[in-house]
Amino acid sequence: MIGLYLHIPFCSSICNYCNFNRGLFEPGLKDRYVSALEREIRGAGKGEVTDTIFFGGGTPSLLEPAEIARLIDACRDVFDVTADAEITLETNPETSTPERMSGFRAAGVNRISFGVQSFREAELRRLGRVHSSARAREAVVEARQAGFDNISLDLMMWLPQQTRADWEESVEALTDVAPDHASMYLLELYPNAPLKEEMARSGWSLAPDEDAAAMYLWSLERLERAGFRQYEISNVARAGRESRHNLKYWQDGAWLGFGCGAHSTRDGVRWKNVSATEEYIRTVAAGGSLAVERRDLTPTERLEEALFTGLRLTDGVDIAAVGARYNTDVWATYGDNLAPFVADKLLIREGPRLRLTREGMLVANEVMAVFV
Ligand code: SF4
Repeated sequence: MIGLYLHIPFCSSICNYCNFNRGLFEPGLKDRYVSALEREIRGAGKGEVTDTIFFGGGTPSLLEPAEIARLIDACRDVFDVTADAEITLETNPETSTPERMSGFRAAGVNRISFGVQSFREAELRRLGRVHSSARAREAVVEARQAGFDNISLDLMMWLPQQTRADWEESVEALTDVAPDHASMYLLELYPNAPLKEEMARSGWSLAPDEDAAAMYLWSLERLERAGFRQYEISNVARAGRESRHNLKYWQDGAWLGFGCGAHSTRDGVRWKNVSATEEYIRTVAAGGSLAVERRDLTPTERLEEALFTGLRLTDGVDIAAVGARYNTDVWATYGDNLAPFVADKLLIREGPRLRLTREGMLVANEVMAVFV
């Protein structure tokens, strides 16, 4: 089954570390964009079975519930969306109200992914986020009251000036609000990020690497005690609440992306839509081709990508199955380069599966480099 990704490129303000495809919210532009997005979806469907729809951004929760309903209806009209499909809306806490959350639920959304990032005010201000810690807590309550039983929270780790105790405070707050799923990402600063300049100006620094490793390991243990299970390097979930959409990215799946800058991958072909919002709207209106950077992956590229993305999962990757799919004996091809990691207990080979240990996850990029 394929997944559908719908990109909404609007935000109420721009965070100082963000390198995503997004711009400031403008009501007129948003109206034209939603119409273009609906038209792109309606022009693409071939009745394929799909079990996930993911609204990402940007800040998709800036759309009105009626607009989200329109886009989900378009997906249902042209794809065979399963009755139990996971339909996720990335939501920023400042956009949540009880009425809006009820509206999104009635529109068909059944999973909310909140971009919280931190429960500490000073950290939120340093990141340029506009919500407060209290607003984030309230938003989760509003989502629960609106009937959402599948809620995820994102936190960012290794922030400027963040100590281990600060990080632990955010993780404890996360366990208090008791979501069903959580993602923990390291802050990655792109070269000209305004936050980088702010750090230099204000003398803000990052904790040492050993502290970042300790923060990561501590939070996984803490979240396990709170009833979560780690299933991917950066993701934990309660039983049955793993993100079905994101699993497609890690399990060699297929997905179609709609909207400006959205990526698609299917049958070894990868492409990306034009990125600029106005150009996207113009191209849809003219009935032109949206795809740029279209690439046919070679069988070796497909194999290697399946292996290194699969290694992100705590269950690891079934190298016998992936090898059979791409006609390669994985261990015969890569075993010499993988063996040192197995010897160092960073990687485990169990029957047909290969998986990283938790220590191995700290150096995942080095292990995955065997495949790229
Ligand atoms: S809300 Fe998200 S997408 Fe928007 S600017 Fe901030 S980090 Fe970027």
